[in-house]
Amino acid sequence: MKFTQLRLVGFKSFVDPAELHIDPGLTGVIGPNGCGKSNLLEALRWVMGATSAKSLRGGGMEDVIFSGTDSRPARDKAEVTLHVDNTDKTAPARFNDADTLEVVRRITRGKGSDYRINGEEVRAKDVQLLFADLGTGANSPALVRQGQINELIAAKPENRRRVLEEAAGVAGLRARRREAQLR
Ligand code: ATP
Ligand code: MG
Repeated sequence: MKFTQLRLVGFKSFVDPAELHIDPGLTGVIGPNGCGKSNLLEALRWVMGATSAKSLRGGGMEDVIFSGTDSRPARDKAEVTLHVDNTDKTAPARFNDADTLEVVRRITRGKGSDYRINGEEVRAKDVQLLFADLGTGANSPALVRQGQINELIAAKPENRRRVLEEAAGVAGLRARRREAQLR
C-alpha cells in the first residue's frame, strides 16, 4: 500500500487545485516559512479522517477551508483527495478489488464533512478503519507534529498506550469493539 497522490482544493492556503505526486522513496517538501508545508501534512491527516481541529491548528473544523486574503475571497468548501496504490492487495476485503483507492473528504460550511472511497459515499468511520487496517491514519505515530514529543513524554499512561496501539496496528480493533458494543 502506497500513497501516490494528494490533491487539495480550497484547503487552508491551497485555494487553487494543487497536486502533489508522491514517488517511491523519500519525498522532501521545501519552501520558505508560511508557504504551506505543514498544511500539506495536515491535508494528509485530514483526508484520513482527522477529527481534532486543534491538531489541525484550528479552532473549529471549518478552519481548514480557505479563509481568504486581501485579494481573494474566502471559499465555502475544501476538498482533499488521496490516491492509494493497492496493487499489492493489502486493502480490506470491501475495497480490495480496486488497484487504486481514491479517498475524498470534503467539507462545506454549515454542512460538515462527507467522505467517498472510489466514488461510493462512506462514513468517517469507514475511512478511519481503512487507514487503521493499512497501519496508518490521522493519528499515526509516523506523523509527528511539532510539540508532539513533549506531549508524549507528559502523557497519561492510557494516552501513551493509545499511541502504542496505533503503532501495533490494533487501533482499528478497539474502534470496532466499541461500535459492536453500541449496537
Ligand atoms: P514553516 O516553515 O514556518 O513551518 P509552513 O510552510 O509549514 O511554514 P504552513 O504552516 O503550512 O507553512 O502555512 C501557513 C500559512 O497557511 C499561513 O500563511 C496561513 O495564513 C495559511 N493558512 C492557514 N490556514 C488557512 C486558511 N484556512 N485559509 C487561508 N490561509 C490559511
Ligand atoms: Mg511548518
